[in-house]
Amino acid sequence: MMKTLNTMMAACALMVIPALHAEEKKAGPNGGRVISSVEPHVEFFVMEDRKLKLTFLDEDGKAIAVAEQSATGTGGERSKPTRFKFEKVGGALVSDVALPEGMKVPLILQVKVTPDAKTVTERLTVDFSDCPGCVHPEYACTCDH
Ligand SMILES: [Zn+2]
Repeated sequence: MMKTLNTMMAACALMVIPALHAEEKKAGPNGGRVISSVEPHVEFFVMEDRKLKLTFLDEDGKAIAVAEQSATGTGGERSKPTRFKFEKVGGALVSDVALPEGMKVPLILQVKVTPDAKTVTERLTVDFSDCPGCVHPEYACTCDH
């Protein structure tokens, strides 16, 4: 009997953890997508001119001025990809060129938090359609609809 109860409790705990994790999903300070594979995290945001902006965050998710962080990116169609270099602009990293046209653009970002750090590769689809469940575009959706 005791054993069955423990098994049930363990199963319960497993079900609860992913639910809690989903609620922690937050938009970045600019309303962009927070990339959590990079530690500390970085916000990915597409500006009005479709240039890419990377804002580095502290432990509390607040923006910090870029220091040693660097990034590169590749996006768009595989046959004619657009390559991005990032420059420091106003405390963040901003791409030299704009994202190619389209409502759904595949993108690979490579981020280094220090010159010696391991490069973190993040693959995402920049989807500009409006999310039906929250105020963000799909690429930055926080509601897991
Ligand atoms: Zn959403």
